[in-house]
Amino acid sequence: MSTRGGGGDGSAGSPCVDRMMPLSVLLKRELTSEKIETPDIFHGLASRSKKGEDFTFLKTECQRVPGNGLTTFAVFAIFDGHNGSAAAIYTKENLLNNILCAVPSDLNRDEWLAALPRALVAGFIKTDKDFQSKAQTSGTTVTFVIIDGWTVTVASVGDSRCILESAEGSLFLLSADHRLDDNKEEVERITASGGEVGKLNLAGGIEIGPLRCWPGGLCLSRSIGDMDVGEFIIPIPHVKQVKLSNAGGRLIISSDGVWDALSFESAVDFSRGLPADIAANKIVKEAVLLKGLRDDTTCIVVDLLPPEKIPTSVTLPKKQGMRGLKRMLGKRASDSPSHHSVRNYFEPYAVEELYEDGSAVLAQRLNIVYPVCNLFKLLLCAVCQVELKPGEGISVHIGSSKSAKVRPWDGPLLCRSCQAKKEAMEGKRPSRNLSRTRDGYK
Ligand SMILES: [Zn+2]
Repeated sequence: MSTRGGGGDGSAGSPCVDRMMPLSVLLKRELTSEKIETPDIFHGLASRSKKGEDFTFLKTECQRVPGNGLTTFAVFAIFDGHNGSAAAIYTKENLLNNILCAVPSDLNRDEWLAALPRALVAGFIKTDKDFQSKAQTSGTTVTFVIIDGWTVTVASVGDSRCILESAEGSLFLLSADHRLDDNKEEVERITASGGEVGKLNLAGGIEIGPLRCWPGGLCLSRSIGDMDVGEFIIPIPHVKQVKLSNAGGRLIISSDGVWDALSFESAVDFSRGLPADIAANKIVKEAVLLKGLRDDTTCIVVDLLPPEKIPTSVTLPKKQGMRGLKRMLGKRASDSPSHHSVRNYFEPYAVEELYEDGSAVLAQRLNIVYPVCNLFKLLLCAVCQVELKPGEGISVHIGSSKSAKVRPWDGPLLCRSCQAKKEAMEGKRPSRNLSRTRDGYK
């Protein structure tokens, strides 16, 4: 059986078997037991620059196992910087590596995909921490898309969004919206952590513009960087993982320059039937036509198409007219890394949700169970992967409401520095002296 964790007991049964198995056997087993059919991936990128703060990352030839072409996966990402471009550039250069360092080695594809949500959380936080240690200002949104086979994993902070149109024409939002204006839950989290949320106050007490977080004046609740904003502006990403049918689908990843001008439906409709590169150009062109070039406007279109060898036996007609955005209901990590391995054969084009969690609670996000085999010989910090000496790690559950039951050695463990970061994100540590106040913001 190759579907990961089938029956919900994937972490309990297989590790004993896997423990003795060398990597070559694992790979061979993966090849023989799982029919490897991967989509043909075509992508296009278009961008119009106003501030020079949008950056993109496109890499189609990443490998889970270096040197093994059968373990190829693709990454597409947009970083929309603010208050300068240093954070966007730093994140573009370091985030993927920080994520991959947080994935245990020697996993097969299903285990690797199951480990990704936790690794994404660790990689985002490490990147944020490392960038802040450089004491540079600026921050960035991140929408980070990993495509492995038919499985698409999207991690996001900020408001650059990613949508999926499935082969039969349903729309799915795969990223979060961390604009304070649109996210009441995040406003409550920030307020509870000691931040103030309100509109910009001009002379005379007139309030204008979007909701912003003070100190700092940022209108996003999550980002990477933003040294000069309260630490309750956190880098913990919303993560969503879906599996497409082998009929494929189209991803549209865009910065807010596009989404401030176009609805999800109109972006899809404007680009319908066009190859990915022309589609991306068309979406950016239409956005700029509608609203003018008021912001950096960037779009990546990625098509996952059935490989030529797979006959496309049935092609459903595209649904016409208005379609509702299907927001698949979120699942919490406490439900265990969820997946429903029984495919519904009556809906061959269904998009299967494997995982979703956007919680800001680090203990919950790191507490995902996945096959451990004998991978954790060393005690590592669950965020930055630094090796911990015995007795040195601090349980991520310390300080949580359940802390009475937590023993200091209960994993996942954090190093002292990552523990301090966790407390800062939860508002348990006073913010640094911040200069931009609500009334003094330019
Ligand atoms: Zn650490």
